[in-house]
Amino acid sequence: MLQGKTAIITGSTSGIGLGIAEAFARSGANIVLNGFGDAMQIEKIRADLAARTNARVVYSPADMSKPKAIEQMVRQTTDAFGAVDIMVNNAGIQHVAPIEEFPEEKWEAILAINLSSAFHATKLVLPNMRRKGWGRLINVASAHALVASPYKAGYVAAKHGVLGLTKVTALETAEDGITCNAICPGYVRTPLVEQQIDDQARAHGIPRDKVISDVLLQRQPNKRFVEVAELAALALFLCSDNGASVTGAALPMDGGWTAQ
Ligand code: NAD
Repeated sequence: MLQGKTAIITGSTSGIGLGIAEAFARSGANIVLNGFGDAMQIEKIRADLAARTNARVVYSPADMSKPKAIEQMVRQTTDAFGAVDIMVNNAGIQHVAPIEEFPEEKWEAILAINLSSAFHATKLVLPNMRRKGWGRLINVASAHALVASPYKAGYVAAKHGVLGLTKVTALETAEDGITCNAICPGYVRTPLVEQQIDDQARAHGIPRDKVISDVLLQRQPNKRFVEVAELAALALFLCSDNGASVTGAALPMDGGWTAQ
């Protein structure tokens, strides 16, 4: 389905991003992986993905908090594959603290990585998508783009911002064969959430399984984590011809969380 297309997926060395990269690679797209981690481990992820799927896979070490690095990532992609057809803005970080104690540097980092990076990447890839008359922008937002939780000021503000950016991008590209949507997952059991389970267990002095049942899944009426493969399938649908009329949407996949 994605033969001949090239996709950048930011923050794809683990979790949701890696799952989306896998689904796109299986569909025939050229893949640009991005994210942090041990260099040897990342090379293994890259080589395994290429071998499993027969896709061409390259890696960009770009730091999403740095606009110049984002520019470099897009240039590297264009040099390797000719163009960016699909841009998945997925890289994200979290920090949990009451507003009065929220460190300024964490606020700045969350806004830069979770929100501003999507603006910079969108700005850089749009001209070529317009030239081709085809493009897909997928912003991995969160249920926290639609509703709030205490102690997540930076994350909730950034994710609500991502939704705003998604809508503006969709309106500005609606006649050009380009769509832009936000996927809004509930809790997914990735390294980002494993870290939160540890932090909350320590903060509340309760065991990890209590954090999972009483804190995290308490929000999710279906009482289970969202699967990475479910999110990857949604992202793939958005890239399909049948997804062409879906634009400017916030698409929750949250087991009913935001229905409450
Ligand atoms: P994860 O920690 O497994 O993956 C995050 C990725 O972002 C990693 O590859 C990491 O290296 C990369 N990254 C972090 N900082 C970066 C930077 N400065 N530059 C480039 N890459 C950077 O987390 P995940 O759960 O897969 O999260 C992916 C996205 O999904 C995030 O935007 C997150 O907010 C969102 N999300 C996650 C959940 C969840 O429950 N896991 C729920 C809703 C939304």
